[in-house]
Amino acid sequence: MENAKFIRSGKAKDIYLRPDGDIIFLFTDRVTAFDGIKKADYQGKGEACCKLSCFWFEKLQAEGIKTHFKDCMPPNMLVAEEVSILPVEVIARNFLYGSLWKRYKKGEIDIGSLVQEEKREGMPLTKSFLEFTTKFESVDRPITEEEIIENGWMDRSEIEYIKTETIKIGDIMASYLVQRGIILADFKLEYGRSKESGDIILADEVGTPDVCRFWDKEAHEQRGEILSLDKDVFREGKGNLSAVYLEVCKRIME
Ligand code: ADP
Ligand code: MG
Repeated sequence: MENAKFIRSGKAKDIYLRPDGDIIFLFTDRVTAFDGIKKADYQGKGEACCKLSCFWFEKLQAEGIKTHFKDCMPPNMLVAEEVSILPVEVIARNFLYGSLWKRYKKGEIDIGSLVQEEKREGMPLTKSFLEFTTKFESVDRPITEEEIIENGWMDRSEIEYIKTETIKIGDIMASYLVQRGIILADFKLEYGRSKESGDIILADEVGTPDVCRFWDKEAHEQRGEILSLDKDVFREGKGNLSAVYLEVCKRIME
C-alpha cells in the first residue's frame, strides 16, 4: 500500500492507484441499498467480499475468462488492472424476482416465453434473462441495446461478446454454488475496456453477496422458501448481514 494514492470512495470500496498504474480496491464494511439511501456498516463484510471476489476471479481466469484481476492482498484488498469502466452494468437473472418481478407486475415488461406456468414471484425462468442498466446516472435504469449502440458505448459485436461471457460466468458460478447448497438467483457484472489492449474484460467484483442473489437451496427446494444469503438481508431487514456473509464465505470457500 505504500506509495499508493487514494483516488476515490465508491459506495462499498475505496480505490487507490499504485505508481505502476494498477489500482487497489479496499473492500470496506460499508453497505448501501436503494441507490445509496439506506446505509450501514457491518463488521467483516469487506473481508468476506474481498475473499470471495479473489476466489471467483481466480476460478474464472482458470476457465479462460479475461478479467482485470491481478492479485489478492489479504485481508481486504485486491489489485487490478485499471480499465475504463463501461457505462452499463450487466444483470443476469435466473428467477422472476426483484425488480424484474416488480416491472412485470406493473405491466412494464413482456416475459412471455421466459416462464411457462402461471407467473409467480420467485419462480424460475426457462433461460437466463440478461439486461443492461445504466451505471453513471443517479438512478440506474434498464437500457436497450439500441440505445447503447446509439450512444457509441459498444458496438453490436461487443454487446454479443459481453452477453456470451456473462452466460459463461453464470454457468461456472451456478454449477459450483449448487454443490455448496446455494442457488444463484441473479447477479450483476461490470466490464471495462483495457487501456493496454483495448479488449473488454470483466472488472469490479464478482460472485459476492453484494452483487449476487444467493438463496439457500434446501429451503427453496423443500419448503419453497426464499432464504436470502445476500444483501437482501440488509435491504429487507431480515437479519445480521455480518453473520450471513460469513456463512456464505464458509459455504463457498471451505
Ligand atoms: P460504486 O459506488 O460505483 O458501486 P464501488 O464501491 O463498487 O463503487 O467501488 C468500485 C468502483 O470502481 C466502481 O465505480 C467501479 O465501476 C470501479 N471499477 C471497477 N473495476 C475497475 C477497474 N479495473 N478500473 C477502474 N475502475 C474500476
Ligand atoms: Mg459497486
